[in-house]
Amino acid sequence: MRAAIAAAEVNPRLSIAVVSKVYPMRSHTVSAEGGAAGVVKPDDSLDEHAYDTISGGDWMCDQDAVEAFVREAPLELLQLEHWGCPWSREPDGHIAVRAFGGMQKRRTWFAADKTGFHMLHTLFQTTLKYEPITRYDEWFVTKLLVDDGRVQGVVAVELMSGKVQAITAKAVILCTGGCGRVFPFTTNANIKNGDGMALALRAGAPLKDMEFVQYHPTGLPFTGILITEATRAEGGYLINKDGYRYLQDYSLGKPESKPVLRSMELGPRDRLSQAFVHEDRKGRTVPTPYGPIVHLDLRHLGEQIINTKLPFVRELCLKYQNIDPVRELIPVRPVVHYMMGGVSTDIHGATPLAGLYAAGEVACVSINGANRLGSNSLPECLVFGARAGKAAAEHAAQQALPNGRVLAQARDEQRRLDTQFLRRLGGTERVAAVRDEMQRTVESSAGIYREASQLTKATNSLRELQGRFENVRLDDRSHTFNTELQSALELGFMLDVAEAIVQSALQRTESRGAHQRTDYPARDDRKFLAHSLLYRNPDGSSRVEYLPVKITRWPPGERVYGQVEEHGKEEAPPAVPIRRAS
Ligand SMILES: Cc1cc2nc3c(=O)[nH]c(=O)nc-3n(C[C@H](O)[C@H](O)[C@H](O)COP(=O)(O)OP(=O)(O)OC[C@H]3O[C@@H](n4cnc5c(N)ncnc54)[C@H](O)[C@@H]3O)c2cc1C
Repeated sequence: MRAAIAAAEVNPRLSIAVVSKVYPMRSHTVSAEGGAAGVVKPDDSLDEHAYDTISGGDWMCDQDAVEAFVREAPLELLQLEHWGCPWSREPDGHIAVRAFGGMQKRRTWFAADKTGFHMLHTLFQTTLKYEPITRYDEWFVTKLLVDDGRVQGVVAVELMSGKVQAITAKAVILCTGGCGRVFPFTTNANIKNGDGMALALRAGAPLKDMEFVQYHPTGLPFTGILITEATRAEGGYLINKDGYRYLQDYSLGKPESKPVLRSMELGPRDRLSQAFVHEDRKGRTVPTPYGPIVHLDLRHLGEQIINTKLPFVRELCLKYQNIDPVRELIPVRPVVHYMMGGVSTDIHGATPLAGLYAAGEVACVSINGANRLGSNSLPECLVFGARAGKAAAEHAAQQALPNGRVLAQARDEQRRLDTQFLRRLGGTERVAAVRDEMQRTVESSAGIYREASQLTKATNSLRELQGRFENVRLDDRSHTFNTELQSALELGFMLDVAEAIVQSALQRTESRGAHQRTDYPARDDRKFLAHSLLYRNPDGSSRVEYLPVKITRWPPGERVYGQVEEHGKEEAPPAVPIRRAS
């Protein structure tokens, strides 16, 4: 939606379609709780935000992209304020900011603990002002139309009627989100199946850094519902079965009476999730029917802070876990949360395939490197959504109309859906069975720790599952809201994404950020200060190439948490004017 607004502002004569497989307000962004980072306070600086992001990403971030990101993030958040986003405030009316993992300053803007909900509402209502924007709600994209070496639109199924239609375009921007559902235990909504990543790969665009998958340290067992990092920013503790704040044993600093930034519970997510695995191996977690857990302790924060700063956390705990965090410990364990990798783009959101752009979680620009810092993703959607919208609008102005040949491709796609799924006779495989096995395969090979033999085994299993998927049978042959067909198409996308994750993880023989190889435990800057680019070959196999990371001002260094460190030159804080509500 941010991209659509930017495109409409560049050229009001454009016709812009916003296509979404769900009603846009149900996009996963709605569930983001903690907040959005952007430098706004006088004691903070753009350099510090950039440094935190780059060191947090274990030096895999492209530093030119990070510099653009930290510069534009506060402006985008301010723009959202002007469009009506109800940011939480300090008593004197200034924007309130909270601490977040891996950040050395408080710079995360929030709207209580429903930040994504309010951001999405603000964007949604703003899109309504722009005449060129037409929404196609509950249309499911199955294919990118490519002819003459450029993308010329998409094929989409209108879910209500089953109608398959080409939506031609001079430029397409993928904003289809992440792919957490490739794993069995995730915070991600059911709709996060990596559709856009697979669409781009099939169309010939490469996927970048797919080996970097983020586990968030605090998910509720069984459901995987996220307990936001904001709980730890407000002062929550992680304790093991003995009630001990175990993070002090993992080079993350020592406990203090008040939370210290970039230390202990406010360390980066990769380190916290890895610490959990070690704690479990030492037998210091609590076994439950849904796997081992540790506890998140908020009791000392008191009812008033929990009710005002973390009301949604209390609601989630009461509804889904039947516990009250004011009085009880919250059981948590690491859960798949976010995809650092995605469709490879440049700093303007352009992919190497002409006419194809990507922004948000589906894209890899890359500002997140090997490990994203919490609260950088929402502003990334804004900054690079706006950039992609602008670049796509400018590209569209120079293109000829889509040619007639792509319409024939849309008819072929309709035939494929019919013969592969809707009218197929025989077929013995079930979508759910293949999906379960895929999820188990990916978790056991590409989880928090990885090694070559598991990844190689997974490569073979995934190839077998691709074969079984070809033989899948649907019971539902109807054209009206055929959710079985939709889940089959999503499984097809996920199988491609799963293979990309496993292949990229197998090839990267080093450990960095969220990619930890037990057989290659050290970081290897000499060989791997480079992004992986996974391409699909014409015969359906894949290949991985490497692209050097862009370093501007911060040469690779050691990641240090839990203590004050010197780095880089400080920069005067930007003068971001805050408009008071009248
Ligand atoms: C529980 C949770 C909490 C989070 N909290 C925070 C936070 O506090 N701060 C932060 O910075 N980040 C947070 N994140 C991460 C962040 O919310 C996401 O990375 C970000 O919102 C992704 O936005 P997006 O626009 O890229 O994708 P999404 O919001 O997932 O939207 C994807 C859109 O693409 C559409 N789509 C997908 N496939 C198709 C298809 N085949 N055809 C048609 N349409 C399709 C969907 O319908 C949807 O509208 C959180 C994530 C989760 C899961």
